[in-house]
Amino acid sequence: MEKSTKKRIAILGSTGSIGTQALEVIAEHPDRYEAYALTANNRVDLLIRQARQYMPDAVVIANEAKYKELKQALADLPIKVYAGADALCEVAEAAPVDMVLAAMVGYAGLRPTMRAIQAGKPIALANKETLVVAGELITALALKNRVPILPVDSEHSAIFQCLAGEPDNPIEKILLTASGGPFLHCTLDELAHVTKTEALKHPNWEMGAKITIDSASMMNKGFEVIEAKWLFGVHPEQIEVVVHPQSVIHSMVQFEDGAVKAQLGIPDMRLPIQYAFSYPFRLKASFDRLDFTRCNHLTFEQPDTERFRNLALAYEALHQGGNMACILNAANEVVNAAFLQDRISFLGMSRVIEETMRQAQFIASPTYEDYVASDMEARRIAEEKIN
Ligand code: NDP
Ligand code: MG
Repeated sequence: MEKSTKKRIAILGSTGSIGTQALEVIAEHPDRYEAYALTANNRVDLLIRQARQYMPDAVVIANEAKYKELKQALADLPIKVYAGADALCEVAEAAPVDMVLAAMVGYAGLRPTMRAIQAGKPIALANKETLVVAGELITALALKNRVPILPVDSEHSAIFQCLAGEPDNPIEKILLTASGGPFLHCTLDELAHVTKTEALKHPNWEMGAKITIDSASMMNKGFEVIEAKWLFGVHPEQIEVVVHPQSVIHSMVQFEDGAVKAQLGIPDMRLPIQYAFSYPFRLKASFDRLDFTRCNHLTFEQPDTERFRNLALAYEALHQGGNMACILNAANEVVNAAFLQDRISFLGMSRVIEETMRQAQFIASPTYEDYVASDMEARRIAEEKIN
């Protein structure tokens, strides 16, 4: 059979916010892209609908209890159906895959992303937790396997776009923009009483629940600082967070002559997703365009790390290195889930993360197995501190 000229993409996390938008990008360019594999954790109904529409070679449901339902629903189609965490890795490694979109949420994305890199697959990376947990290991592995990691996170995509055509020009500083989330101007007193319903209302972006809470607590920005360090090889001191509530400038790079380049656009994740798919080319897209007559008020301010402790904790983890960011991530996943279940207050989240960072065992040069053990230990400590 003739080799397909389309780029075949395995989407890990196709039922999520990034995953569904990635499928829209594929639908807009059916001559260039096709979904090789689609995967979900629990949302089997949506996965079935996506499989019928996009006709991938394979689908995976991580939760094995849902396998039968998925298998039966797709019995009339020539789609391979698998279940479980190992199957996720296997579809990412499969020979026909040209690119893996890592769009699962959280630590669970680490292993399949690692396996895809080891199999030599270019990565479009949305799952920032992979770089937060094990940035050193992942970047070394990508270098060894000559695998590009193309950022999907809008800020990192902006930085990546600013760096196009500048291969020999060192970065002086990265200016990472932050919307500041729904609680930007709340006092500490007010922050003590904010609810999950308020936290889930992000002013500019529609995203999955976990990252929306991380955005409200500014842990998301802390993670993005760590992500930027690994993607662009800069020191923590070269990454400055700038609060820019309008989310028009998606991030900036300052070069050694003082010139600052920025990438602007409306907040729409389909653009960075598409750019990761099409890099180094830009494809015509039907997304809305920025109307400058409607954004005549762009503002910038410093983040407040007294009210948003998580940002300071992320810088601290980055300075300490080793497994500290893995501990930070694990504790954050526990408190984030607890906040969504009304088991911890908004400010309690930072307290538990900080205490977990103090208590969990520090490892200066962790192996993959160390990361797995640190993740488990930090989750246990954080869970104990909540209860
Ligand atoms: P969602 O919660 O919307 O989607 C997560 C996806 O991962 C779903 O397909 C979900 O399946 C799947 N999933 C969750 N847990 C597991 C697991 N244990 N095993 C296998 N699959 C799992 O998240 P988002 O799309 O918002 O975010 C995805 C990643 O992209 C995150 O790392 C986030 O930080 C990053 N990101 C997201 C942005 C956004 O705009 N949403 C912007 C920048 C980065 P199911 O649907 O069945 O639960
Ligand atoms: Mg972002």
